[in-house]
Amino acid sequence: MTDALLTFTEAGIYCPRGDFYIDPWRPVDRALITHGHSDHARPGHRRYLATHAALPVMRHRLGAITAEGIAYDAPLDINGVTVSFHPAGHIPGSAQIRVAHKGEVWVVSGDYKTTPDSLCEPFEPVRCQHFITECTFGLPVFKWAAQDSVAQEINQWWAAQAQAGGYALLGAYSLGKAQRLLRMVDPQIGPILTHGAVEATNAVLRAQGYALPDTRQVTPDMDVKALAGALVLAPPAALGSAWAKRFKGASTGFASGWMRLRGVRRRRGMDRGFVVSDHADWDGLLWAIRQTGAENIYPTHGYTDIFARHLGSLGYQARVVPTEFGGEDGAADPEAA
Ligand SMILES: [Zn+2]
Ligand SMILES: [Zn+2]
Repeated sequence: MTDALLTFTEAGIYCPRGDFYIDPWRPVDRALITHGHSDHARPGHRRYLATHAALPVMRHRLGAITAEGIAYDAPLDINGVTVSFHPAGHIPGSAQIRVAHKGEVWVVSGDYKTTPDSLCEPFEPVRCQHFITECTFGLPVFKWAAQDSVAQEINQWWAAQAQAGGYALLGAYSLGKAQRLLRMVDPQIGPILTHGAVEATNAVLRAQGYALPDTRQVTPDMDVKALAGALVLAPPAALGSAWAKRFKGASTGFASGWMRLRGVRRRRGMDRGFVVSDHADWDGLLWAIRQTGAENIYPTHGYTDIFARHLGSLGYQARVVPTEFGGEDGAADPEAA
């Protein structure tokens, strides 16, 4: 594989001919970034390239970076190699990156999900010969219900708390998942309050034109008693903290693909677990791989070995690639999620 178009190095996925990296985890000269999550968009690179839609949140998280924006489906020549970014359906601005040279075509999926979520640009299959795929949820047990039915579950839970004059405290990753949930809930049930980390991301996305319902950031002087019946949206780490204590008697919920696993749900100590993921489920992964037409599949982060073995049984050339990307909620290991 030494003269392949993409290689796997200690710094990350590298294109020797084009002299650039994709989502590198060590500082490099030129980084093409699939999306703004912290395990993919890391600090310290000299130059960044990402979609126009992904850049604002990257700047919000990384501060002053030297970055160029690119439109979806717009080919760019880098040292004779053609690169283009295509919607990954994961979070706003997320992309799969296509790399092509003299008929050799690779696609790096980053993170993706195959079903539309009403918030981000929907996943678009890209034909290639080599597909580097995440497989965060690469086990048959992971099967997502339709978004509408999960939305109904969440709304019913919230409405029940509101009727009892309580709070529904919902934990969700602050970039992507939180905003997707905001699009799923029914704002007529009651006020929606947010933790500062969620609200900061909301502000960035609203400024870009992503429509979200009204939310109010929880502040130290806020009289939360006057806001009984609220849905409170916070990042996972805030749920067990002093911050959450002001919502006395709140029912707690958590929205993550890991909620599909009973053991994880129990260890989280939540009243409710909602199975909402920004990653493809088992069927979604296999569907996406079929759509690429690729014969060579490189599973990264997640249940790579099991997933690669299954791909092998389907006739694919599957080779597991170690990377330093995390899984959903930044945790590759469900025991830690
Ligand atoms: Zn991600
Ligand atoms: Zn990832």
